[in-house]
Amino acid sequence: MFDALAESLEDAWKKLRGQDKIRESNIQEALREVRRALLGADVNLQVVKDFVAEVETKALGADVIAGVRPDQQFIKIVYDQLVEVMGETNVPLAKAETSPTVVLMAGLQGTGKTTATAKLALHLQKLERRALLVATDVYRPAAIDQLVTLGQQINVPVFAMGTDADPVEIARQGVEKAKEMGVDTVIIDTAGRLQIDENMMGELARIKEIVQPHETLLVVDAMTGQEAANLTRTFHEQIGITGAILTKLDGDTRGGAALSVRRISGQPIKFVGVGEKVEALQPFYPDRMASRILG
Ligand code: GDP
Repeated sequence: MFDALAESLEDAWKKLRGQDKIRESNIQEALREVRRALLGADVNLQVVKDFVAEVETKALGADVIAGVRPDQQFIKIVYDQLVEVMGETNVPLAKAETSPTVVLMAGLQGTGKTTATAKLALHLQKLERRALLVATDVYRPAAIDQLVTLGQQINVPVFAMGTDADPVEIARQGVEKAKEMGVDTVIIDTAGRLQIDENMMGELARIKEIVQPHETLLVVDAMTGQEAANLTRTFHEQIGITGAILTKLDGDTRGGAALSVRRISGQPIKFVGVGEKVEALQPFYPDRMASRILG
């Protein structure tokens, strides 16, 4: 496991050989390799710095365990810290005591937000929960059509009011409709822009204010790499997220965005998207992601 890091630690661990304790003098090279590995996995620079400092604190003074190669011991410290930062266990989607549970989807255009909306509905269907999808992206008719098509594909109703209505009003009526229909979850797909702008944030904030969601999920494209950190910071500061969905993990990214998103928002990644198909959604497991990040 972690062959890439283990290999790059070859030289570093020679320094640890024969030592009884992990000390500042014999660990610097190993820490540099961890830093390199995390940057290679596209973890945000500041997040890497903080993380490496934490690993150093944990590792320093640790007794080298007899019979265990110190590099393996060190890798275990790094791995455990990664898992800890990413939240230890999977956190499922919230369920409101009184239905419907309201889920607000947020994120930039092209990240896979609309696809994730449908994926989530299918996931809930498997748990015998019934969802209503709400299309509020009035700026791109294609986005509404896309959600309607996806809804038909998975047999989940979609509430839309065309492109002339106010997105806030569509969201409000969508939740009312969900109550009327007796479904237990309403998932609101919102407009994404190519870049964050004030109008987009203002609209999202107004929708959030009106529908009081139980979950506000930020959809992040895992391929965004370093940028995932800024994106998360802005959305979390301005809207307040309760979790994230990391998409496009079927690509060749090592998934460092997961660490950045969690670290910066403090909120759990709840699901990962692993393909274009509507079935391609999996719960997020910190231990699996830690292994992936370490390569
Ligand atoms: P939105 O603009 O954020 O709503 O993004 P869409 O849901 O329209 O997705 C944009 C593109 O990314 C589409 O071509 C999707 O098929 C694709 N996509 C979405 N999620 C994933 C994923 O997990 N993996 C891959 N490979 N493609 C995805």
